[in-house]
Amino acid sequence: MKKINNHTMKENNMCILLNTVRKKGPISRVYLARELGLTSPAITNIVSDLISSNLLMEVGTSDFNSVGRKPILVAINPKACYVMGIVLTTESITVVIGNFNVTPIYQHVTPIKPLFGRDQIITLMISDLQNALNETGLDKSQILGLGISAPGPLDAKKGILISPPNFPDWDHVKICQILQEAVGIPTVLDKETNTAALAEYYFSNLEEYPIFYISLFQNSIGGCIMDSNRIIRGFQDGAGDIGHMQVDINGPRCVCGQFGCLESIASGDALIAKAQAELKLFSDDRLSYDFNISDITLETIFRYADQEIPLFANIVDYAARMIAAAIGNVISILSPSLFVLGGTMLKMSPGLLDKISHYVHARSYPYCVKDIKIVPSHLGEDSFILGAMMLAVDHFQTTLCEK
Ligand SMILES: [Zn+2]
Repeated sequence: MKKINNHTMKENNMCILLNTVRKKGPISRVYLARELGLTSPAITNIVSDLISSNLLMEVGTSDFNSVGRKPILVAINPKACYVMGIVLTTESITVVIGNFNVTPIYQHVTPIKPLFGRDQIITLMISDLQNALNETGLDKSQILGLGISAPGPLDAKKGILISPPNFPDWDHVKICQILQEAVGIPTVLDKETNTAALAEYYFSNLEEYPIFYISLFQNSIGGCIMDSNRIIRGFQDGAGDIGHMQVDINGPRCVCGQFGCLESIASGDALIAKAQAELKLFSDDRLSYDFNISDITLETIFRYADQEIPLFANIVDYAARMIAAAIGNVISILSPSLFVLGGTMLKMSPGLLDKISHYVHARSYPYCVKDIKIVPSHLGEDSFILGAMMLAVDHFQTTLCEK
């Protein structure tokens, strides 16, 4: 373990200061001193070191100070280095490269199917990463690190994917080691929802903590608890996994093997299965649909629900009540101040959030729920690519401060 001395204290303060500038910059030294509780000379000293290292840069003056000399603002130097991210889902591999400000300069998406198999998908991941370096003309030495955003369960510390439910032949895959050896860039791994929550923390103006982030997707529901900039992981990295919270003991079998998990009831695939079953049972000759029952999509379900056709409106309403029940359970245990909801389902149905919020406030313990806010993700789909890059920044930034 690294001995804590004045040197490592200064490195720690450098990293904290960099993260504060990243979240709140451009910012003056005076505000940094207030934010971090450090003395002005200490801030001046650290900022000077970071400017000398090209990690920070001065970017003009603040307009707020009307009397005396206007304070100089400092910001992250976007050209200090680059960072890579890779987002693995059941549908695609997305590779992104960003500058030190985590602003994307390159992005490429390769569609996949889990049935491709583990080896083929890993080969594609490696070739996409190498193509990204070739096409941007960047050398691996210019890349601070690579962050992988992937479905759980996984061991973030060891960089291992542990049999994600929708990837049939992936069992204890040492994905960090494999990519790091193939591409030659330090690599770190986390769950997709954790990376999205990390991006929300850095790139949204969220100040209330703890936050519970929920992602609602076609084939999965995930969650993450954040307290300030820290992801609460719990035992075996399982904290926050709201998708596998049991909300109906008589519910359908989930991909995890259990019954009645939220994901098995309220994910997009669950809504499609419910719609298909009900359409077969209660086919109504008065309605003519523009789809085959076996081909029904989530977009179609939301469209007919918005038109208030009862069968579809009831399915969406049921999903909203179940998601709200799970949120109510989280409130009882953790009492977060804010829920941030992201994922493709909200994009398809903007009204879903209001329905969920309505049921949370109508059905949860009134005292505990009265001031709780439920808001949509500010970043939308970008939260995953930004989060993958931010994961690498968050993890490897210390190496820059040690130089
Ligand atoms: Zn489950």
